[in-house]
Amino acid sequence: MDKIKVTFFSAKDYDKESFEKAELRDMVDITYLETRLSPDTYKLAEGSDVVCVFVNDDLNAFVIDKLYEMGVKLIALRCAGYNNVDIEHAFGKLHVVRVPAYSPYAVAEHAMALLLTSIRRIHKAYIRTKDFNFSLNGLTGFDLHGKTVGVVGTGKIGRIFINICRGFGMHVIAYDKFPAKDTDIEYVSQEELFKRSDIISLHCPLTEESKHMICKESIDIMKKGVVIINTSRGALIDTEALIEGIKARKVGAACLDVYEEESDVFFHDFSGHIVNDDTLARLISMPNVIVTSHQAFLTAEALANIADTTLSNITGFFENDVCPNEVCYKCEKVGSCPQAHAKKCF
Ligand code: NAD
Repeated sequence: MDKIKVTFFSAKDYDKESFEKAELRDMVDITYLETRLSPDTYKLAEGSDVVCVFVNDDLNAFVIDKLYEMGVKLIALRCAGYNNVDIEHAFGKLHVVRVPAYSPYAVAEHAMALLLTSIRRIHKAYIRTKDFNFSLNGLTGFDLHGKTVGVVGTGKIGRIFINICRGFGMHVIAYDKFPAKDTDIEYVSQEELFKRSDIISLHCPLTEESKHMICKESIDIMKKGVVIINTSRGALIDTEALIEGIKARKVGAACLDVYEEESDVFFHDFSGHIVNDDTLARLISMPNVIVTSHQAFLTAEALANIADTTLSNITGFFENDVCPNEVCYKCEKVGSCPQAHAKKCF
């Protein structure tokens, strides 16, 4: 039998390394492409059974139709979030599978790394001591112990972040659209969380409802000096409102692993170029903003899990007719997909 043909978009060296080592590697024929999947590049998937994609590949209705016409059967996401796929449009045409969890620890630990770096000015201190400048002026931080952290989204990552914060002696409050029943987490309304938190960390998915949950109105009710951490999806924050909040000294610091307009910039090396995105340039120029380029997932453990689960999703679909990690709009929005999870959704 012919091997399953996979066109792998947005491929990086670390992806190739982990996929080449994965257990099911021999069952698929992979073409690695560095390019991003978009309305301009979909033709590169000609002749494939599967497109394997990441967070910034664009699977809008047009791309889905074109892939379907070309005979592609499966969209295999190498990530958990699927806001970049029009899943409603894909229903009945292309199945969509994802990696629901690869290492929630990686993301939660990165959120804490950003927070500590920011509030203890490690990013400043590192540069100073590299230059043999041992002055401490301007490096005063604050204790995390006793501070209130507001966690938005108490799923896999949010809960681990909560445990890490508790280890630091912080008081944790949380908001979730669907609060968990089996925990001792102190749930509050979104508004109360914004009002009471010294630090806010976002761990919910990007949906129509959650888009721009951090905006002018929400920043207005926050505590002066609040630290905002976003390791989830960029568009949870209205970036212009965040910049205004920082300029007004209302927001004390921002730790951003994701950015609304990241898709053309993140994962690429622009060190020798002029970046055209003035908003990103403004953010990066601010001393109390730390930006990492969607790096939170990037640990050896997570990469191995992503490769193993993705290849298991692909081979399960073609060899065994099962699709346990399928994403479908009926499961998500209607909540009633009879074929959900083990079997294919259509
Ligand atoms: P999860 O599905 O386990 O948890 C998400 C939680 O958010 C759930 O409890 C859900 O009820 C809650 N939620 C849904 N809508 C909400 C809303 N409008 N307001 C508040 N809460 C809401 O997901 P997870 O694995 O914990 O991942 C969380 C997010 O982290 C993902 O959606 C993804 O965007 C992001 N992520 C980022 C990286 C990275 O590298 N930066 C890696 C993986 C995941």
